[in-house]
Amino acid sequence: MNHTPPGTLFVVATPIGHRADASQRMISTLQQVSLIAAEDTRHSQPLLSHYDITTPLCSLHEHNEHSQSQQLVDKLLKGESIAVISDAGTPGISDPGQVLVQLAHQHHIPVSPIPGANAAISLMSVTGFKNGRFLFIGFLPTKTQERATLLKELKEEPYTLLFYEAPHRIKETLSTLCDVFGEDRSIVIGRELTKLFEEVHSTTLGEAIIWVSDNPNRRKGEYVLAVEAYQVDQRTLDETRHDKLITELLSKLSLSDAVKLAVNITGEKKNFLYDRALRLATP
Ligand code: SAM
Repeated sequence: MNHTPPGTLFVVATPIGHRADASQRMISTLQQVSLIAAEDTRHSQPLLSHYDITTPLCSLHEHNEHSQSQQLVDKLLKGESIAVISDAGTPGISDPGQVLVQLAHQHHIPVSPIPGANAAISLMSVTGFKNGRFLFIGFLPTKTQERATLLKELKEEPYTLLFYEAPHRIKETLSTLCDVFGEDRSIVIGRELTKLFEEVHSTTLGEAIIWVSDNPNRRKGEYVLAVEAYQVDQRTLDETRHDKLITELLSKLSLSDAVKLAVNITGEKKNFLYDRALRLATP
C-alpha cells in the first residue's frame, strides 16, 4: 500500500513477540496515518522507533475508550486517517479497539483491518486437531462461580476452545479445566509464542498441570490454551443405532433370526449383536 485514503480508521496488528512478524503494511500504514491511537504509548514506542515511525501518538485504553473514541471519530470525520494498535497482536481481540470501531461504523467511516499476529490463531495453527472448528473464548471470568458456569456450558461443544490466561492463574485454570472436562481431554499449550523461550506442548489436561509445575520458569510468560473439541463417543453412537434396529427386528422375528439379519445389515460381529439383542429381549 502506497497511500492511506483520507478519513479511514485502520485497525493494525503488531507482533506478539518477534519483531520480524511486523508486516510491510503495518509499517507503511503507521508511517502514513496522521495519528496512532495506542493502548499504551510507552509500551509501543520501542517498536515504532525500531521501524522509524514518527507519527504522533495518543492513548486509547479500556479506561478512556469511550471519551477518546468520540474525539477520534471527530478527527476521522474531518478527513484524518487514524490507526489503532494494542500492546501486542490484533486490536479488538481481548484488547481495546471495538468501541472506536463501532462508533466509526455508526458514522459510516471506512474501517480497514491490517492483519497480522494473533496469539489464539497462531496456536490453533499448531494444534494438529483434525476438527478445524474453534471457539475463541479469550480470558475466563475471574470469579469462581462465573468461571464454573461458563466452563460447564462449554464442556460438550464440538469446537476446539481457545483461552488466554495470565501466568499467575495458569495452574488454577488448568486444574479447573481438568475438573470440568476430565483428565483425558487433549490440550495444546502455547507459551511465549514467537519469543526466545517459545514452547508448544501437546498433552492431556491431567498431565498439563504436572508440565506447568515441573519447571519454575513456567510460572512466567504468556499463555494461550487450545482444548480439543468434545468427542462424541463413536461406540456409543453405534450401540444406539444398532439397538434401534435390533428392537425393530425383535418385534417381528425370533432372537436368532433378528441377530442373523442384524449381522447382514450392519456388518457388525455376531457376538456383539447377540449380546445386545439378549439384553433388549430380556425384560
Ligand atoms: N490482542 C492480542 C492477540 O491478538 O493475540 C491478545 C491480547 S490479550 C490482552 C493478551 C493475552 O494474549 C496474554 O495474556 C496471553 O494469554 C495471550 N498472548 C499474547 N501474546 C502471547 C504470546 N506471545 N504467547 C502466548 N500467548 C500470548
